[in-house]
Amino acid sequence: MNEESKTYQNIICTFCGALCDDIEIKVKNNKIENIKNACAISRKKYEHAQKDRTVPQIKGKEVKYNKAVSAAAEILSSSRNPLIYGLSSTTAEAQKAAVELAEKCGANIDSTSSVCHGPGTLAKQLVGMVSATLGEVKNRSDMMIFWGANPVEAHPNHAKRYSILSQGMYRKNRKDREIIVFDVRKTPTAKLADHFFQVKPNSDFEILMALQMLVSGRTPTSEDGRIGGIELVKLKDLAEKMKKVKYGSVFYGMGLTMSRGKYMNTWAAMSLVRNLNDYGRFVMIPMRGHGNVAGSEITMAWQTGYPFAVNFSRNYPRYNPGEFSAVDLLARREVDAAFIIASDPAASLPHEAAEYLKKIPTIVLDPHWNLTTEIADVVIPSAVKGIGASGTVYRMDHVPLQLRKFLDDSWPDDASAVSRIGELIEND
Ligand code: SF4
Repeated sequence: MNEESKTYQNIICTFCGALCDDIEIKVKNNKIENIKNACAISRKKYEHAQKDRTVPQIKGKEVKYNKAVSAAAEILSSSRNPLIYGLSSTTAEAQKAAVELAEKCGANIDSTSSVCHGPGTLAKQLVGMVSATLGEVKNRSDMMIFWGANPVEAHPNHAKRYSILSQGMYRKNRKDREIIVFDVRKTPTAKLADHFFQVKPNSDFEILMALQMLVSGRTPTSEDGRIGGIELVKLKDLAEKMKKVKYGSVFYGMGLTMSRGKYMNTWAAMSLVRNLNDYGRFVMIPMRGHGNVAGSEITMAWQTGYPFAVNFSRNYPRYNPGEFSAVDLLARREVDAAFIIASDPAASLPHEAAEYLKKIPTIVLDPHWNLTTEIADVVIPSAVKGIGASGTVYRMDHVPLQLRKFLDDSWPDDASAVSRIGELIEND
């Protein structure tokens, strides 16, 4: 039947942590006809959302959906030390169901956070983080610092919706804000900045500590007049400016959390921001990558008390990144089965960890084929979140948003699949 086309307003794009909620989608005959307000990444994702869809499989053979779900339950219930991993591209409802399943199986549960912003979360546990919503930053921030983050390429609508080019209530345009970028190379974001500070690779910690000293009126020593590749005199100028702004904000990316020093880099940045609150208001927001990776930490912390790398083998949650994080468990070959939810570790984890997945029974729950579905023993398809499935997601500033489905999907959503596996294990 040829239906009338229907336009859906304020759809949330779930492809990165900015979760832009102004996408307009025209649908006809259960197909996307037109997309408005989406960035280049988002447009491509929407165009491909209904292509390359998974089907239920066991050992490469197509089976009925329920059979694949039962096979997953069998693998998990017979495993002695399973791993549940991924979770950053699914809804909070599925994340909650995954924690319940982990508890039932005595499993390890970890999200992709442990290989991206996890070190920042460890730093937050040490020193705390002064933060704000993106809306507050857009309306008030007169100095924006991007550290190891390149939103122009990774979060293309961030600049116009929330930061550099946005129209805020009190900061109306680009001229009302001073933009500063710290990075190891001159990125497209750096090209939009008033000041670009080129960081000598792996020197973020030294620079941040030098800024902390300068803000508190002390001068660090340097034989060549530079710290981490940046002239000391320029850092001194910046420290003075930082003390004078009304509302400063730091957006930090994996260039900070994953360079040498890891959580200590973010600890130094958080301590600096905390100290700057003696002079004016200063806040920090992580530039989260996957659509609901912030939600994976929030949901896991709400359910277990810990944000990632949690182990249930003693029937209560234990937390130890480095011991219970997925890369370490796989590289040390300590797990004997894996359930991958909405993630592609075969493409993103270090070779040794990814290779081990081929040696153990691996289940993948994902709407699309990827490198991990290629090596999986069991593949369970699911509805695409934000398109064929509703649910809750958390933006990079921890604001929860409600997804609305606008297409019918052939498969149940992630939360239903994970809960069903849990029920089958219970009934075992
Ligand atoms: S910036 Fe991110 S959330 Fe916004 S439209 Fe682009 S991919 Fe989607």
